[in-house]
Amino acid sequence: MSTSIDEISCPNCGETAQRQQDNTTCEVYSYCSSCGWDSETGIKDPRKVTIEWCEGDVQTLRPDYSDEECQEALDSIGKHLRDRSIEKGWEIMEFLLDDYDREKEQDESV
Ligand SMILES: [Zn+2]
Repeated sequence: MSTSIDEISCPNCGETAQRQQDNTTCEVYSYCSSCGWDSETGIKDPRKVTIEWCEGDVQTLRPDYSDEECQEALDSIGKHLRDRSIEKGWEIMEFLLDDYDREKEQDESV
């Protein structure tokens, strides 16, 4: 297994980005440390939130679970985890908007 790394110009900001190619799978992954662009997600948009949970995350919270148990647990709670994350997202947005409003008011009163 080997990986070759070369440099490309970032399609997002034009700075030097790293291009990695896995010589076994031929998979290519490019990443720009200047702007955070990567070839998997394209241009980073802070409005897009992608959360991906895996068995290892379950194991962090339940170290005594086997790999299989982690997978079963994740399958079982997955839908709720997704729904609750969206619910929480609304709460967080409300909270951040309160902050935003407060800052805006302060700016206006200066
Ligand atoms: Zn860039």
